[in-house]
Amino acid sequence: MSAPTPSHAGGPVVEGPHDPEHDPRAAYALEPEYVDSLTRRILASSGETRQVHSPINGAPLANIPQSTDRDVAEAFDRARRAQAAWARTSLDHRAALLLRLHDLVLDRQDEIIDLIVWESGKARKHAFDEPLHIALTARYYGRTAHEHLDTQRKLGVVPGLTRVEVNRVAKGVVGIISPWNYPFTMALCDGLPALLAGNAVVTKPDSQTMLSALLGAQLLEEAGFPKDLWQVVAGPGSKVGTSIISRADYICFTGSTATGKLIAKQCADRLIGCSLELGGKNPILVLRDADIEKAAEGAVRAAFSNAGQLCVSMERMFVADAIYDRFLERFAARTQAMTLGASLDWGTDMGSLISADQLDAVVHHVDEAVAKGARVRAGGRARPDLGPFMYEPTILEGVTPDMACFGDETFGPVISVYRFHDEADAVARANEGQYGLNASIYSQDGKRARELAAQIKCGTVNINEAFGATFASVDSPMGGMRESGMGRRQGSEGIHRYTESQSVATQRLIRFAPMLGMSDAAYAKVMTANLRLMKKLGRA
Ligand code: NAD
Repeated sequence: MSAPTPSHAGGPVVEGPHDPEHDPRAAYALEPEYVDSLTRRILASSGETRQVHSPINGAPLANIPQSTDRDVAEAFDRARRAQAAWARTSLDHRAALLLRLHDLVLDRQDEIIDLIVWESGKARKHAFDEPLHIALTARYYGRTAHEHLDTQRKLGVVPGLTRVEVNRVAKGVVGIISPWNYPFTMALCDGLPALLAGNAVVTKPDSQTMLSALLGAQLLEEAGFPKDLWQVVAGPGSKVGTSIISRADYICFTGSTATGKLIAKQCADRLIGCSLELGGKNPILVLRDADIEKAAEGAVRAAFSNAGQLCVSMERMFVADAIYDRFLERFAARTQAMTLGASLDWGTDMGSLISADQLDAVVHHVDEAVAKGARVRAGGRARPDLGPFMYEPTILEGVTPDMACFGDETFGPVISVYRFHDEADAVARANEGQYGLNASIYSQDGKRARELAAQIKCGTVNINEAFGATFASVDSPMGGMRESGMGRRQGSEGIHRYTESQSVATQRLIRFAPMLGMSDAAYAKVMTANLRLMKKLGRA
């Protein structure tokens, strides 16, 4: 367990509603047969298992079979065979399966959400975001398949005589390595465009949250995707992740920046592409003309959704001097009024952290900051009375660069608040550090906010919203600048990363060499004149 509860509490946080039928402290949660039906999907022959526990009550959830390097090799063999047939199916067929998945996920959301909550301890309303995101992603790619993947005509070098087409060819077998924080959607969402583009997938979800990922695999099969097209292996990232990278045609990784750098090096050694969705230390700017009540409401979601264990959640807040006191009073009041609980029920505003390690990291960041002079404006305590890894939503003031929580990602429900005097200064401070994932700006002047957004070095910027506006707008790319990542999920970029573009040019009548007895020198003159003419005609 974590360090003892610190004594610098900033305010009360009450327990969520209690329903005896769903008592989170009940001895056991999931039927063993149900767990078996999921874990059977893991390709694992070692005989070893790893026991996982629920953050809701600490009770055992499952024994997860562990995969060996040979299992990973077998997973790739099966996936390659399945991919060869899959790549020959029509795009319309693949798109229709995605749309079927959309319906399945919405129909089965209660089961999905229960499993996510048992595995991660998050509040039910935050678990709902996961099937929601998969449904959005499945519908989007299902409906836009042709737009992204149809062969496209391009300008030929000789108008009318050079016909050029670009095909989108599947990479082959994509390896997906995913984290625990959004265990259902992070295991699944990046794989949907990979499948649509004609690839197979071998996935290694985080060890703590295999069940949600396995339910995703089951739903894919129920939607009609061939079983072998989606392989699941389990085990430590340093072993099983490395086995995947040594065989995949492309890697999609979501996780910490430190691991992302290791993976990038391994991919470079094999000259395979990768997309890396990594950490952040995301800033939220509250400008002097912000609607204070709306900004305070948004800030609560920005900082405390999924107990802050969200790559795009806000950990740094810059508030205009003119409204600082009024805004902070409202933000702190809303934070202190949050209902906190480890529960399967709707109605709690924030759930648990995932593990003792995660709780230790949060306790360390807050206690160290307080010891060095930071002030707790709300929260600031672990709450073992509510669940083994519960921690209060916490607002800190007076955070300085010598404190870990100033620049390091906490990945917990802790936000540091700073005053700013002019907006240029706020933008400069928002741009400090090595990360560049997500930012948020609250202002009633949309034009001004968009001008500032263009100056912020983050892959997504939300105006008058925390993160949902960009994250759920799946037609636009999502990802990080600087050490927050490489490549993008969602939109065209989110699917084209899984394809090789192949240019096919058909030449008619003339050739790219002297013709009709022309000398090389004459040919050069004709081509030079031709280039000049093309420019005059305005051709690209
Ligand atoms: P992590 O990097 O420790 O683990 C992520 C995954 O990588 C797990 O499946 C893990 O088993 C695997 N892994 C670990 N070491 C590996 C190695 N050497 N080789 C191959 N695989 C390895 O990250 P985490 O702590 O589980 O997740 C939290 C981090 O993820 C945070 O930094 C968060 O910001 C980030 N995240 C980013 C996004 C995004 O979209 N940018 C989304 C969710 C989480």
